[in-house]
Amino acid sequence: MKTLIIGEIINNNLSSGTLEILGKAKSMELETQVITVGSDDTPTIGLNETKQTYIKRSNSSLNFSKVASKITEIIKNEDIKLILGSSTYMCRDLISFISVDLNSSPISNVIDFDLHDGKISTVNSINGGESLYKAKINSDHSLLLIRPKAFDPAEVELNTDYETIDVDNSDIEVFDIYIEEKSGPQLEDSKVVISAGRGMVDKENLEMIVTLATKLNAAIGGTRAIVDAGWMPYSQQVGQTGKTVKPDVYIACGISGATQHQVGMKDSKYVIAINKDEEAPIFQLADLGIVGDTLSVIPKLNDNL
Ligand SMILES: Cc1cc2nc3c(=O)[nH]c(=O)nc-3n(C[C@H](O)[C@H](O)[C@H](O)COP(=O)(O)OP(=O)(O)OC[C@H]3O[C@@H](n4cnc5c(N)ncnc54)[C@H](O)[C@@H]3O)c2cc1C
Repeated sequence: MKTLIIGEIINNNLSSGTLEILGKAKSMELETQVITVGSDDTPTIGLNETKQTYIKRSNSSLNFSKVASKITEIIKNEDIKLILGSSTYMCRDLISFISVDLNSSPISNVIDFDLHDGKISTVNSINGGESLYKAKINSDHSLLLIRPKAFDPAEVELNTDYETIDVDNSDIEVFDIYIEEKSGPQLEDSKVVISAGRGMVDKENLEMIVTLATKLNAAIGGTRAIVDAGWMPYSQQVGQTGKTVKPDVYIACGISGATQHQVGMKDSKYVIAINKDEEAPIFQLADLGIVGDTLSVIPKLNDNL
């Protein structure tokens, strides 16, 4: 089946979400091409075995309608039937526009999909990961939004060999852009993630999490409770309405383990939890549980590492 992956760029490279979808498409031996959308000048996104087209848009615009129209044009010209994107702001926007152009409903929260008799069937995660449903798509085009970490990433060597199409999308004027500064390991890609919850008691105590993260070369996440309290930016929230992570080690510090948090970290290889309540649900997921006060356990870890 002719397949299009809508790719994204992070740090001048293909995003991990794009590589995960590419990994799945390769394992199914689909006839795949990638259209990556970004505003960098010459990102390193070319793929040796897969056709890559770069749609370069203005970075001073938030409007995707013209980018979507260009992608729809390519889908129609090349008779592409399966369109895949990560569950990100950009792909959700683009796939919404494209679904209208193609008169086909998109399917979101996809954690797996398959091809039988020319039809795509999907497995989707809903209710914060508590329920799954299966769908079979009968429309002419299948548009899927894939949850991050659903598949293993493709191992690829990237180059700068691809066609670039410039799209002028400046019909909504942007007055100001705030780009959040990011330093240290990033949540989506780090092998170790340390997350903080309300059980860190006070924002100032997050300093000990920073010290631990530096020692373990870990990325730092948090629960929605502490993000809502203004202790941490939203970009670090792990869970249903935040990021999905799948590190080798996830250390939950003072986190109760609500289902909405679990859905963003439950596929971590090993979970270590520190909580003073031995009945906290996070211990049901934990490979190693420490029943204790975060404010005394974490400094001890820091002193001994
Ligand atoms: C639609 C919806 C979407 C949501 N999306 C998300 C999401 O994406 N991510 C998310 O995280 N949540 C999300 N939530 C919120 C979620 O339901 C929980 O409220 C939240 O995860 C709780 O955060 P917490 O564990 O930090 O706080 P709490 O639930 O208050 O837990 C704090 C824990 O710390 C322990 N503790 C307290 N003091 C100490 C101490 N000194 N030492 C050790 N342990 C201590 C307590 O025993 C308790 O278990 C969502 C909720 C809804 C309704």
